Amino acid sequence: MLAGASAFAQQYDLLIKNGHVIDPGNEIDAVLDVAIKGDSIAAVAKDIPSDQAKKTIDATGLYVTPGLIDLHAHVFGYSGWLWPDDTQLLTGTTTVVDCGGSGWRTFETFKETVIDRSKTRVLAFINVVGAGMVGTESDIDDMDAEKLAAKIKQFPEIIVGIKCAHYGRKDYYNLEQAVKAGNLAGVPMIVDNSILTSNDRDTETKLLKYFRPGDIHTHMFNDRHLEIADRFTGKIQPYMLEARKKGRLLDVGHGSGSFVWPNAHKVMAQHFYPDTISTDLHNSSIFTTKADMPNVMSKMMALGMSLQETIFRSTARPAQVIRKYPEIGTLGTGKIADIAVLELEEGIFGFADSWKKKKLAKQRLRAVLTVRAGELVFDEKGLGFPEWQTAGEYEKIP
Ligand SMILES: [Zn+2]
Repeated sequence: MLAGASAFAQQYDLLIKNGHVIDPGNEIDAVLDVAIKGDSIAAVAKDIPSDQAKKTIDATGLYVTPGLIDLHAHVFGYSGWLWPDDTQLLTGTTTVVDCGGSGWRTFETFKETVIDRSKTRVLAFINVVGAGMVGTESDIDDMDAEKLAAKIKQFPEIIVGIKCAHYGRKDYYNLEQAVKAGNLAGVPMIVDNSILTSNDRDTETKLLKYFRPGDIHTHMFNDRHLEIADRFTGKIQPYMLEARKKGRLLDVGHGSGSFVWPNAHKVMAQHFYPDTISTDLHNSSIFTTKADMPNVMSKMMALGMSLQETIFRSTARPAQVIRKYPEIGTLGTGKIADIAVLELEEGIFGFADSWKKKKLAKQRLRAVLTVRAGELVFDEKGLGFPEWQTAGEYEKIP
């Protein structure tokens, strides 16, 4: 017995004990321990002994979830982009998808300068415009479906889809090119609606005529999308119901200008939930609207979404949407150890929207610890460190 026991001693590198594990992909919602070996999840079980791990973290009273996946943020190209590690890891977010910062002509620069140098897993929706997210993204002479598809096929692990946005022309040429490239490369597209532009295009045509199943409509709670719910009756528009039935997906894409309480309230009250919760994080949305993942998740909860649903739409669901599930988005044994430890704070909290109006709520989710590929990369409370014992310890430092 002793020989056997010693063989198992410290077989794990890290053990997160006593946390409430919510792993929607594996239908886990219980107080359990999570053991990590190297960069992978080794076990999720009850009462894993601490002496089997080199380091143990006590997560009593905290929620342990798969690392959050931010499906829409800006970490390259756009003038307001932010460095992913500085903005994502400290919010429990281990995977971020850059939303159109790079195009087929600039993707390699993005890869060399940001993707390859980040601890955060950085994926990309590549812009339909070759130059990426510059100007109004309306330069049709810089759209080339063949070259776009070729670039996607060259980097299939990183490029997960095509972004179309801020298009100022009165036609659907950018969507036609994105669909063509998307069909050639087998990826979905993510599309805004009339942000920064005024044209004759409408959401109904976009969703029902151009979208394919799996294509994503982002900024769903933007005030320019009041048509998502009828402004007089407040009811969800029939074409939105039809679009969802046909497999069109809806993303929050909060940002600085794309989340207004009256719109979100009407839509959420009818349980017409976003498929994916995302931030559209950039240099202005990080401040007053504070659109990081836990904050946007808290806003969904303030509108009635359960904690479990909120975590599903921030982990397993975005992984499915970008066709990376179950490679990421779960705590399944053998999967990469990307983990968020979240605290659900109780109190009175104010959450601001794009119109600078706030809603008060009694709960707030906050990230307190992040593990990325088995490495403890963010630890707000020092949960992973031993307490210092005596001042004399300093005398031993050479
Ligand atoms: Zn955006």
